[in-house]
Amino acid sequence: MDEKTTKPNPYFDLIMDEDLEKNQWPSKIDEHKQSTKHVSLMAQAMTKEKFESLKNHKTASANWTIARAINTGTCYPSSFVGCHAGDLESYKDFSELFDPVIENYHAGFKISTDKHITDLDVNKITIDLTKEAKSKIISTRIRVARNLNFYPLNPAGSKETRNEIADLIEKVVNTLEGDLKGQFFRHTTMTEEQTQKLIDDHFLFRGKDEMQAASGYHEHWPIARGVFHSDAKDFILWINEGDHMRIISMEQGGDIKRVFERLGRGIDAIEEGLKKITGKESVFMSDPTLGMITCCPSNLGTAMRGSVHIRVPKLIAKMGLEGIDKIAREMNCQARGSSGEHSEVIDRIDISNWRRLGFKECDLIQDMIKCANKVSEMEDNI
Ligand code: ADP
Ligand code: MG
Repeated sequence: MDEKTTKPNPYFDLIMDEDLEKNQWPSKIDEHKQSTKHVSLMAQAMTKEKFESLKNHKTASANWTIARAINTGTCYPSSFVGCHAGDLESYKDFSELFDPVIENYHAGFKISTDKHITDLDVNKITIDLTKEAKSKIISTRIRVARNLNFYPLNPAGSKETRNEIADLIEKVVNTLEGDLKGQFFRHTTMTEEQTQKLIDDHFLFRGKDEMQAASGYHEHWPIARGVFHSDAKDFILWINEGDHMRIISMEQGGDIKRVFERLGRGIDAIEEGLKKITGKESVFMSDPTLGMITCCPSNLGTAMRGSVHIRVPKLIAKMGLEGIDKIAREMNCQARGSSGEHSEVIDRIDISNWRRLGFKECDLIQDMIKCANKVSEMEDNI
């Protein structure tokens, strides 16, 4: 929304809750906590007392406030997490909110004592999909989020920071070589034909998520949004979707190791390119305890979601997505619809790792493999 006369669009523009707009504690959070409905992790963690003690603080890098941080969960009580960070300091300065949210989502992780460790070594994946599971796998996709440590996170971003980020990443992807080399498209300048092609390939992200809009993710849409894909379309970058970057490796079929190996190589190439162009020694926003810093606390740590789309029509008919999800959760995984989060389910589901913080990437991929094998076995036993 550019003109002051246009009504804000809840799917893209930042609309603040009435109370938060006035920097007041939203009593609807208390009401919500007393109801029997689902309570977001934010609402579980927040109290009026915490709000009062934090409400006049602004973080140093992004001027992030507690009111901005909790807007999504206040406006959308059904959200699972319900809070967002505007910079690295958000997690420290508003730790009274974020620590319980993080420890709740990333069950078992203790912020006071634990450290996050990164390990993208493909040789440490020692288990494999069964033949039966492999035959049901339609596609594999592993993504990580990465944010640049010299810009605010996108909920706190301006048009300028978003543009600078897109310009920088465009320069970096232009230096990629070999199988990583490809083409960069901007939402603002792609032709109709290019748009259609990216939609057909399922590569285009289109914003339009009310909960994400309430965090500020989609502000200034579609400015500075872009997609890069390698010539073979198996290495993809999303620029300024929510995080500054989503780095994605994907292909048809179930060769998980190949997808994971390419992802690791791609992340390294992007990091090296960024260091070279900016002259900075450290480019990704990270923290020894929290790992990779992301706008949503659920993505902290590895910032990785590895998923397979697996065809299990009988199992879906028998127990539905919810039933399958329950089993997946017991195996530290999650089941989603195959057109992304909150999407409809027909004959296939998306199985992915649920844990991200305090675990190595290679181990989380093994969680996903084990869960895909289990789901496949259950399908075959019906
Ligand atoms: P995330 O936010 O983790 O990237 P979403 O659930 O929002 O995941 O999905 C993003 C997009 O990626 C959706 O279009 C979804 O269909 C696609 N996708 C996710 N996993 C796979 C997969 N294994 N194969 C093909 N497409 C996938
Ligand atoms: Mg998503």
